Amino acid sequence: MIHPEQQRRAYLQAMGIDVWLPRDADELGVVEATAVPAEGLSWPELRECVASCTRCELSQSRTNTVFGVGNPEADWLIIGEAPGAEEDRRGEPFVGRAGKLLDQMLLAIGQSRDSVFIANILKCRPPDNRDPKPAEAAACRDYLERQIELLQPKIILAVGKIAAQNLLGSDDPVGRMRGRPHELGGVPLVVTYHPAYLLRSPSQKQKSWSDLCLATRLAAEFSA
Ligand code: URA
Repeated sequence: MIHPEQQRRAYLQAMGIDVWLPRDADELGVVEATAVPAEGLSWPELRECVASCTRCELSQSRTNTVFGVGNPEADWLIIGEAPGAEEDRRGEPFVGRAGKLLDQMLLAIGQSRDSVFIANILKCRPPDNRDPKPAEAAACRDYLERQIELLQPKIILAVGKIAAQNLLGSDDPVGRMRGRPHELGGVPLVVTYHPAYLLRSPSQKQKSWSDLCLATRLAAEFSA
């Protein structure tokens, strides 16, 4: 199905009318001023919209968009930072070494890659795995918001600083945000360390385990 905004742009193009970009669009890394809004889209429409997204300059360097993977009716939503090289190549989140550890963490709480839904703050890989720019995260935000609306998860697990800071609008380090309940749009949210960090600092795994236990408890309370 063609989205009304795509149709509108096609008409404008056919009529020879330019779609204007804001003056500072280049500096912000934004390449498209009139993005197709994600609001109201179904799962297949949203997936299609993400696959053809050109909202920011990452669309020019990506191999694949990484929409997310898992059960579209999952209770658990895991949110990471952005695709890395392997994820960009395969179009799936968390498939590298960090992903293997995430799989083990999920297994420990009786979940799996197929029972939860896994997504990222960004749908496209930032070059050289640099941190997402605020404008890129902002451009991508309504895709994630629509995913949350469609999923209606019982718990959101934000893994790592970038996910936690973006979702909670905070500058706090993970150490200060983890270990206690937060909330996003009425859904309980728990922050924990990114599995890539846990690979470098295995001594922190114990804390991540207690975050997972907290998330399990909050999900059960939310469902009750
Ligand atoms: N790290 C993330 O935050 N997300 C991925 O998809 C892969 C690695």
